[in-house]
Amino acid sequence: MFNFLYNNPIQQYNKIVKKINQFYETLEKHSEIELKNQTNELKIYLKNNKLNLDEILIETFAIVKEAIKRETGLVLFDVQLLGAIILHKNNIAEMKTGEGKTLVAMLPAYLNALTGKGVHIVTVNDYLAKRDALLAKRIFSHLGIKIGLITQHTAYNKRKEEYNCDITYTTNSELGFDYLRDNMAVHKNEIVQRNFYYAIIDEVDSILIDEARTPLIISGKTEVTNNFYKKAQEIASSLTNKQDYEIDEKSRNIILTEKGVLFCEHNLNIQNIYSIKSPWIKYILNALKAKELFIKNRDYILKNKQVTIVDEFTGRIMEGRRWSEGLHQAIEAKENIKIEAENKTLASITYQNLFLLYTKLCGMTGTAKTEENEFLKIYKLPVIEVPTNKLCIRKDMPDLVYKSEYNKWQAITNECFNMYQIGRPTLIGTTSIEKSELLAQMLEKIHIPYNLLNAKPENIAREAEIITQAGKKNTITISTNMAGRGTDIILGGNAHKIAEITIIMYIKDQITSNEKHTKSNFYSRKMQTILDEINIEFFKLKINNLETEINNIIHTNHHNKNQEEQKVLKIYKKLVSEYKVICETEKKEILSLGGLHVIGTERHESRRIDNQLRGRSGRQGDKGTSRFFLSLQDNLFRIFGGSTIENLMKQLNINDNIPIESIILSKSLNAAQKKVESYFYDIRKKLFEYDEVINNQRQAIYTERKKILESIFTRDCIIEYGECTINEMLNIYEKENNNKRQEILKQILQLLNIKINFRIDELIKMNFFEIKNFLHEQFRISYDLKEAYLEELRPGLVRQLEKYYLLQQIDKAWQEHIEKMHLLKEYIGWRSYGQQDPIVEYKNEAFNLFINMVTYIRQTVIYLIMRSRLIINL
Ligand code: ADP
Ligand code: MG
Repeated sequence: MFNFLYNNPIQQYNKIVKKINQFYETLEKHSEIELKNQTNELKIYLKNNKLNLDEILIETFAIVKEAIKRETGLVLFDVQLLGAIILHKNNIAEMKTGEGKTLVAMLPAYLNALTGKGVHIVTVNDYLAKRDALLAKRIFSHLGIKIGLITQHTAYNKRKEEYNCDITYTTNSELGFDYLRDNMAVHKNEIVQRNFYYAIIDEVDSILIDEARTPLIISGKTEVTNNFYKKAQEIASSLTNKQDYEIDEKSRNIILTEKGVLFCEHNLNIQNIYSIKSPWIKYILNALKAKELFIKNRDYILKNKQVTIVDEFTGRIMEGRRWSEGLHQAIEAKENIKIEAENKTLASITYQNLFLLYTKLCGMTGTAKTEENEFLKIYKLPVIEVPTNKLCIRKDMPDLVYKSEYNKWQAITNECFNMYQIGRPTLIGTTSIEKSELLAQMLEKIHIPYNLLNAKPENIAREAEIITQAGKKNTITISTNMAGRGTDIILGGNAHKIAEITIIMYIKDQITSNEKHTKSNFYSRKMQTILDEINIEFFKLKINNLETEINNIIHTNHHNKNQEEQKVLKIYKKLVSEYKVICETEKKEILSLGGLHVIGTERHESRRIDNQLRGRSGRQGDKGTSRFFLSLQDNLFRIFGGSTIENLMKQLNINDNIPIESIILSKSLNAAQKKVESYFYDIRKKLFEYDEVINNQRQAIYTERKKILESIFTRDCIIEYGECTINEMLNIYEKENNNKRQEILKQILQLLNIKINFRIDELIKMNFFEIKNFLHEQFRISYDLKEAYLEELRPGLVRQLEKYYLLQQIDKAWQEHIEKMHLLKEYIGWRSYGQQDPIVEYKNEAFNLFINMVTYIRQTVIYLIMRSRLIINL
C-alpha cells in the first residue's frame, strides 16, 4: 500500500545513463592530452561555480568510461553506469558476481575525488586492494588522477602519501588500524589519514555484516598469570558435561551447575567462586569454552605453534587477531603451547562506527538484499538491486536432505565423481577446514583430482590463482566459504592469469632446470617457442621476487620499462591471445555440458552466504547449476531446527541413503535459517547499541585529544582544567559541613600546589563566590610563576610539558576506562535478570565512569604540571 514511499529510482537513473552515453560518444575524438585536461578543468569549474557534484555527474562518468575503454578495450555496460550512479547517491548497489564492480567503483570515485577531499575504496583483502589499485592506476593515468594503495605491507612512512592521493585503495582492517593509531599519535606529524569523506566499500556485506561482530583492537601486553590458566584447564578437564556444567550452543555460553560449582570450590579450596574477590570463575568458564566450543581446525588452527583464529564465515585465518578476555590464553593452555601475555586493549572500534565516520558512504556486493533491513537501520544505506547485464539462467536445484551426515558426504562425493566424469567444473563450498579435508580424503579414495582452498597458510597464497582456474574443464575445487571472494571464476579459465602463471613457471623451470613441466607437455610446442624468447639471465637475480616482478611488468604501464621487460610484456600479450582462443573453445564445450556446478554442503547462517556461493555460477548469462546437500545432523537443524524436522523424517520412515528433496522440508528449513539470521542480527545490533555508548565517549576524547595535538598554545587548556577542577571540588564543598569543608579546601590547595599566606579558617569565612574567585586567581598567579620559572630555564619548555602531560594523562585514563567499560558490560550481562533493561543500566553507569575519568584527567594533569620542575644534572 505504501509502495510509493519506496519509489524505485532506477527509471530516473536510466535517463541519466542515456545522457552519459551520449556525452561519451563525443569523447572519442579527444586527444590523450585533451582527455587528461578534463580533470583539472572540472576541478576548477566545480570550485568556481560552487557546483553540486550531481551537476557534473554525466560528464565525469562519460570521461571515465572513455578512459576505461582506452586502457582496457572494455566498454562499460549500461547496468554498470547504473550501478555507478547508485553508488554516488549513497546506496548499496547489489550487483551479481562477475558484473564488473571493480570498474563501476571507479566512476563515483573519480567524481568525488574532484572535490580534492580524498576517496577511499575499501575491500576485504590485500590481494584485491592491490589488484584493483593496479588496474585503477593504469586507467586513471589517462586522467591525471593519483591512485594510492595501502596494504599490510605498506610501510608506515609511506602511508601519509598514499592517503593523500585522490583515490586510495585499502582494506577495512588497514583503514581501521590506521584510524586507531592516528588517535594515539603524540605528534601531529605522525598522523597518516586526512579525512573521512567518501568511502566505497566492496563486498560490503562481508565488511559491514560478517566482520561487524568482532571489533578492531589495538592492544599492548600485560604480565601473564599462567598458573591460573593451567589450573583452570586441569579443573575443566575433570568436569563433565551435563553434570557439572551445561552448554548453550546457541549463545556459545557455558553455565556451571550447582554440582560443578561445589567441585570447583572444593578443588580450589575457596568459599565462593562467584565472589568478586576471587578471579576463578572467569578462568574456569574460559577453560570450559576452550574445551567444548572452540575446536581446532574449525575455529582456529595451530600455525607456528600459535593459536590462529579462523573466521567462521569466510574460513580465512585472521592473522594477528586474538580472542579477548582470556579466552585465547585458555585455548593455548588446552593446546599445551606457550601462553602469551593477556592483552590490554589500548584502543578499539567496531566497523560499524568506523564507517559511520564518513560523510558519504556506499557499497557494492552480489548479496545484500536479504540484509536490507540491517543496512538501512544501522548504516542508513538503502539497498538497490541492479539488473544483470544478461539474464541469469543458472538453475538452483532443490536441496537434498539426508538423515545422517555420513550419507550426505557420500552423496557429495558421488556428485563430484559424476561431474568429473562429465568434465564439468565443480565448486564445493564447505563450512570448515576440517570438512574440506574430509571431502578431500574421500575424493582421493576414488582418485578424483581436486584443488583444496582453505585457510591453511600453505593454501592461502594460491587462493586467487586456484579460483581463477576453477572454471576449467574437469576441475574440482573445494573451498571453505567465501575463500577467493572477489575473484571471478571464468569458464574455460582466465587467459590473462594463465599467461602470467605460465611465464612465471617457465622462468622458474629454466633457472632451476626443472624438466617436469616440459616433459609433461605442460607448455604446448607453440607456447614453448614463444616462451623461449625470454632472456633467462635477466631474471636470475630476481628469482626470489619473481611473482611481483612479472606482475609489475604486466600490470603497470609506466613507460620506462627496459628492453627485457618490454620483451616479456610482448610475450605475455602473445600468450594471452593464444590462450584466449583455447579458453574460448573450452568455454563453449563446458557450456554445452551445463556450465559451472556449485555444491553447497550445509546451509549457512544466512541466506545471503548461500547466495554468495551459488552466485559463483551463472555469471554474465552463462549456463550453470547449484545444489545444496544437507543432513539432519547439520548445525542449522540441530541447534535451530526444533523437533519438527526430525519427527517428520522419522514418520516418513525412509532409508538412510535416500534423500528428501527439501520441498517437503523447505518451510521448516527456511524458518530455521531465518531464526539464525535474526539471532545473529540481534547480536550485532546489541554490539552496536553497546558500542554506541563508548563511541560517543571515544569521539569526545579523540576530539579533545586532537585539539590538544594541533594546538600551539596549550596554556588555555591547562587554565581551563585548573578552573574546572576548582569548581568541581567546590561543588562538593558547598554541600558539606564546616569540618569537611576545611578538609576540601586543604585538598584543593594541595592539588594546585598553592601556598597562601593566611589560615584556612579565614578562607572558609568568605562566601562561595569569593572563594571561587580567590582560588581561580591564586591558581593563575601560581601558574604564571611556574611558567616564568620554567621559561627561564629553557624557553618553550612549558608548552612542551603541557602537551606531554595532557596527552599522556588522556591516553592513560582512556585505556583504563576502556578496561572498566569491558568489565561493566560483562557484569551487566551477569546481572541482567532484574526488570531493568541492561542497556539502560549500562548507559547510566558508563556515563558515571566517563565523568569520573574526565575529572580524574583534569586533576592529574594539574597535579603534575604544578609540580614539574627541571632537574639539571651538573
Ligand atoms: P565483480 O566484482 O562484479 O564480481 P569484476 O569487477 O571482478 O566483477 O569483473 C569480472 C570480469 O568482468 C573481469 O574480468 C572484468 O575485466 C570483466 N568486465 C568488467 N566489465 C566489463 C565490460 N564492460 N565488458 C566486458 N568485460 C567486463
Ligand atoms: Mg569484485
